[in-house]
Amino acid sequence: HADTAMYHAKFLGRNNAQFYSPSLTHEAMRRLNMESDLRRALEAQEFFLVYQPQVDLQTGKIHSVEALIRWRHPQQGLISPAEFIPLAEGNGLIVPIGEWVLRMACQDAARWQAMGLPLAMAVNLSPVQFRNGSLTRKVRDILEDTGLGAEFLELEITETTLMDESMTTLQTLHELQELGVKFSLDDFGTGYSSMSYLTRLPLHNLKVDRSFVHGLPHDAGSLAIIRAIISLSESMGFTVTAEGVENLEQVKILMQQCCHTLQGYYFSKPVAAEQIPDLLGQNWDFDRLS
Ligand code: C2E
Ligand code: MG
Ligand code: MG
Ligand code: MG
Repeated sequence: HADTAMYHAKFLGRNNAQFYSPSLTHEAMRRLNMESDLRRALEAQEFFLVYQPQVDLQTGKIHSVEALIRWRHPQQGLISPAEFIPLAEGNGLIVPIGEWVLRMACQDAARWQAMGLPLAMAVNLSPVQFRNGSLTRKVRDILEDTGLGAEFLELEITETTLMDESMTTLQTLHELQELGVKFSLDDFGTGYSSMSYLTRLPLHNLKVDRSFVHGLPHDAGSLAIIRAIISLSESMGFTVTAEGVENLEQVKILMQQCCHTLQGYYFSKPVAAEQIPDLLGQNWDFDRLS
């Protein structure tokens, strides 16, 4: 954005530059500060995780949760991952941050299992973590240290990771599959240029991007895309999760379409770890809807 500001300044001439640059500079400064604050945040223990339930449509029960990172900035309060994850990807900090997320999430999942709650854990991974080369070793160590079975870990990756043709990424994907962890493809439908990678790589689940769910029940285009994704998944042996489910109308349609897993504010917002055991008692009666 600093570059954009300069470009605008040059392009628009001196008078306009005076008008345009202060706000853009402010934004650029904020980012710069945020980046240096990000470097200290891990050590200062400013990150924490929240967990959002994923509900199995067959049983009406929570069968897994997704770990989502939060940053409590000492001055600015809560900062969204949508804002700081891209920064952390740009400067490589996503590698130690992502490792911290994995460890915390696996620890919590192992603790729940020890309480007799067999929840699976979904963790988001950045493409940058795959390029780093030591991901498999880290995942293996974390599973060993925490005692969590690999089959309970689901790694959420994006199309960017799958389309990265570097040897390190491809090899890491296959090594992790050998470990026995599962892969879920996040935000599906928002970024692909080719679907051939779906046949080449070890996927288990597709997560329909919430922009399509948002269109339900009224937008015919969104419904058509969701139906196509579910039918594609069925023939390829993947399960389907719909994210961003906010109301009962959406639940009904997704149920009619035989979606497997639902996630969204309708069921629960992401919550602190302590709240998860209580939520597990909930049972949604989907039969009543059909
Ligand atoms: P995502 O992995 O697609 O996660 C789903 C996002 O949708 C979360 O936003 C969640 O809070 C939000 N969400 C869930 N249900 C609803 C709903 O019903 N309506 C709406 N409008 N939103 C809903 P959040 O937590 O702000 O995370 C944003 C993104 O940041 C994530 O998207 C993911 O790409 C990234 N992210 C979060 N935590 C991590 C992490 O630990 N590592 C990495 N690499 N990325 C992360
Ligand atoms: Mg995700
Ligand atoms: Mg998503
Ligand atoms: Mg996302």
